[in-house]
Amino acid sequence: VFSPVELAPRDPILGLNEAFNADTRANKVNLGVGVYSNEAGKVPLLRAVQAAEEARVAEHAARAYLPIDGLAPYDQAVQKLLFGADSALLSSGRIITAQALGGTGALKLGADFLYRLANKRTVAISNPSWENHRALFEAAGYDVVNYTYFDPATNGLNLTGMLADLEALPEGSVVILHACCHNPTGVDLNLADWAKVIDVVGRRQLVPFLDIAYQGFGENLEDDAVAVRLFAESGLPFLVASSFSKSFSLYGERVGALTMVTAAKEETAPVLSQLKRVIRTNYSNPPTHGAKVVAAVLTNPELYALWEEELAEMRDRIRDMRAALVQKLQEAGVEQDVSFIQRQRGMFSFSGLSKEQVARLADEFGIYAVGSGRICVAALNNSNIDTVAQAMAAVMKA
Ligand code: PMP
Repeated sequence: VFSPVELAPRDPILGLNEAFNADTRANKVNLGVGVYSNEAGKVPLLRAVQAAEEARVAEHAARAYLPIDGLAPYDQAVQKLLFGADSALLSSGRIITAQALGGTGALKLGADFLYRLANKRTVAISNPSWENHRALFEAAGYDVVNYTYFDPATNGLNLTGMLADLEALPEGSVVILHACCHNPTGVDLNLADWAKVIDVVGRRQLVPFLDIAYQGFGENLEDDAVAVRLFAESGLPFLVASSFSKSFSLYGERVGALTMVTAAKEETAPVLSQLKRVIRTNYSNPPTHGAKVVAAVLTNPELYALWEEELAEMRDRIRDMRAALVQKLQEAGVEQDVSFIQRQRGMFSFSGLSKEQVARLADEFGIYAVGSGRICVAALNNSNIDTVAQAMAAVMKA
């Protein structure tokens, strides 16, 4: 059975963690991982989460199955967060939300649904994109193509290229759009850019699939949902994969959701029934704990306020680290313009470091970044930022 099985290609980020763990230097820094660490270098347990967990443990609740599409109060809270509490969509009968195993699980459910029930075979992802987008959609059977996104000349968005590529896609192609805090570049669309994208998507009858894994890490919960809200206003059908891994620091609990907005309410019942089949034949129903915790926070005004405060703390700390990194790079004698690091949003920065510079950072300084030059700004803190800035400056100047 197993003799024909060959070793899978090494996961670049997991390989990086192994190299980091094996490094014995005391001042090594791992900028490869995609998680938020606090000033102490630890993944935080949010106080709002702790309070909700304590209340839940005190209940000593029995462990029955959840419904196939998850915990109803959780699904409703997800919709409010995505579309806004007073959105007309909430009572339109046009939305379906199913709890999913993180943002990844939501993407896979959407991928399987569109492949099996809507006959979709082509998906377009940004160049570059989160590396699992390509792998996940290929595994689901799709042809994966790129659309232009990042402009290395400006370290910003190549909107003209993006629109031209979307325009040229075969009608009916699925398009993955990072709603905010683009991974890996940190480069986002503004309101006017989104309006142009929505125009092309509508005219070319593309299938927009929004991926929002960092709501609250850019500006705030409302502003970061602008793409979702503009698509909602457009009247177009679309899908959203959302995740609380980062915003609740609940990475290992796998709390996400797939939301589908249909074109008309008559479509909703068949779509929901088929989505439930996709779930049922895959993992039957989702786990309870993470969704209970998130729903408890989102539906309790005090815990919600505490969560928003903690989310702002994470966001502000990342911003402070961006500003400090730019300043320290300049102080260390870097002459190139690095101000773009401060304009990028979310956990990551596309630093502009080449593969060779990334390799030198690891070899000579024990600082580990992804080969593409992506660094996790959320892994910086006041204890490691000088080491990182000086090492980056050394490889950038040479
Ligand atoms: N989409 C993007 C763009 C991401 O960066 C991530 C997480 N790295 C995900 C989806 C998946 O998130 P989760 O951990 O909730 O599966």
